[in-house]
Amino acid sequence: MSIHVYWGQLFIIPTGVLKEVISVCRCFLWTGTYNNTKACAIAWADMCKTKKAGGLALRDVLKWNTAAVSKLVWSIAQKKDNLWIKWVNSIYIKESNWREYVVPSNVSWTWKSICKAKEELSNWLGNDLWLTYNVFSIKKHYVNTLGQATAQQWAYSVWNRYNIPKHRFILWLAVQDRLKTRERLSRIGVSDSDRCLLCQQHSENMDHLFFRCHFSAQCIRDVLSWLNITWNGRAGILQLYRRIRGPYAGTKFRKHVTFAAIAAVVYLIWKNIYSAYWEDVIHTIACTVKNLKSIVKARISQIMSSKVSHSDQNWFANL
Ligand SMILES: [Zn+2]
Repeated sequence: MSIHVYWGQLFIIPTGVLKEVISVCRCFLWTGTYNNTKACAIAWADMCKTKKAGGLALRDVLKWNTAAVSKLVWSIAQKKDNLWIKWVNSIYIKESNWREYVVPSNVSWTWKSICKAKEELSNWLGNDLWLTYNVFSIKKHYVNTLGQATAQQWAYSVWNRYNIPKHRFILWLAVQDRLKTRERLSRIGVSDSDRCLLCQQHSENMDHLFFRCHFSAQCIRDVLSWLNITWNGRAGILQLYRRIRGPYAGTKFRKHVTFAAIAAVVYLIWKNIYSAYWEDVIHTIACTVKNLKSIVKARISQIMSSKVSHSDQNWFANL
């Protein structure tokens, strides 16, 4: 991702090339190849949103390139003392006012692209006051072009620093109901059955898997009981998060440990679905919970901050 972001900062890259780069990145993320045309679980524009807004904070290179090229536009407005500015003033702008300059039809593609970036950024921002700023930050203007996005309540819990990265990704899909459950697959004709692979009794959808299925309900109850939290196991992930953020009176550290444990439950249940389908193996609840405790403890022990209080450290050590 960083390579074209770097070059997009230095050169005007044709839109077709940037779209191809996005296509390759998108394919690689979802399929591990570069030329697969399968539909993606999450739209690219949503993945470019900030993590707080529910995205992955990937760089939208089309907007990044416009913001980067806009720095040239700003340099012209600031009448910077360099050879290129003198050259464009003498060849293209001449006596015209740069803020009101309209690009002629018989000029080069590069100059048209620079003028187009001026119009696009002014349209996104609603005015051209940015041309008068003393300092131009590409990153700041790029963020402005993304616009205001609604913050997602679950984002804080999903991107909790104690969550293991691969757990975060599966959880991120789960809270948006984008995992390929059997109900979803049978709806599009990929699977011939929609029965839950863990219990074979109900339709396998997000609501059932997290956490109405007797397997997952028992897993989450055991894990929360391990953390001294009572839970009836009937509601879903988002309700559980609300409960932890709200009435649960634990310290910030204990909440973070709980978020990491919930992320691990979701991941391990999904992994069980995977092994049930591909390997015909379902790990027992006891085995799943034991595995979870060990990976959560190992993860948090590795990255635990030294600022965690002694009472929280003792609580964690006794888990
Ligand atoms: Zn089930």
